[in-house]
Amino acid sequence: MFGSHLSIAGGMYKAVLEAERLGFDTVQVFTKNQQQWRVPPLSEESRARWQNECRRLGFDQVVSHDSYLINLASPDPDLRKKSIELFTEELVRCHLLGIPYLVTHPGAHMGQRDDPACESEGCQRVAEALDLILGQYPDHRTIVCLEITAGQGSGLGYRLEHLSSIIKQNRHSDRLGVCLDTAHLFAAGYDFRGNIQYKHLLRQIDTTVGLERVRVWHLNDSQKPLGSRVDRHDHIGLGMIGEEGFKPMIRDKRWRDTPKILETPKLKHPDGRDWDSINLERLKSLIK
Ligand SMILES: [Zn+2]
Ligand SMILES: [Zn+2]
Repeated sequence: MFGSHLSIAGGMYKAVLEAERLGFDTVQVFTKNQQQWRVPPLSEESRARWQNECRRLGFDQVVSHDSYLINLASPDPDLRKKSIELFTEELVRCHLLGIPYLVTHPGAHMGQRDDPACESEGCQRVAEALDLILGQYPDHRTIVCLEITAGQGSGLGYRLEHLSSIIKQNRHSDRLGVCLDTAHLFAAGYDFRGNIQYKHLLRQIDTTVGLERVRVWHLNDSQKPLGSRVDRHDHIGLGMIGEEGFKPMIRDKRWRDTPKILETPKLKHPDGRDWDSINLERLKSLIK
């Protein structure tokens, strides 16, 4: 199941229509302007149009990505408070819109880079914040998916162990999942190019978060080399992962019904085609 992160400019339902036009089976959206702390109310009309379009197309595995402003790992009390409030809004919006997955970056601990104590304290703060948020809404069914990150700066989540530590410390772990971004995995040092390397990654996933936790993939090639810890997305096949590098993962039937979302640069190819269509075509060609 392939999708793309698409714009909600002009109405949330516009992202669904654009996904249909481009030939995707699902979509990822921000449910609000992701650069603003302010959250405008979600109108009944906006919600109804979104749900109607999703229903018409059978899009039941849609994904929301939270705002990049949110940092649930922050040691700063003000930023933590604002982050918890905004993430709560994000979760409520997903619930109202019937979105089953909310992807979030674990956040940055803001201390010494790669310091194990700072990292474990950061993971603890994320787990506690999510406990607080999820505990308020026992009836919500949206799964919060912690995304693997490239590990820039003091960012957490560039090790699968960070994600499993957050999950293990959380009282609502049945409502937590994992999102694996291929560009982030690669930049973080996880190589999955070739069957042997890919199988090794599967074992690492299984012994940390567990394979069944992986609910969403982000499919991006990486402009930066393996282990560079720098997050730069590239078109499928044009980066350092390359078409061959994607094959074992794309051909693995266990992910057939898992949303696999493109977050590659949009724009148009010089030949006038949409890059999203070209990337989708490339991915489908790798399955054969
Ligand atoms: Zn991603
Ligand atoms: Zn990224």
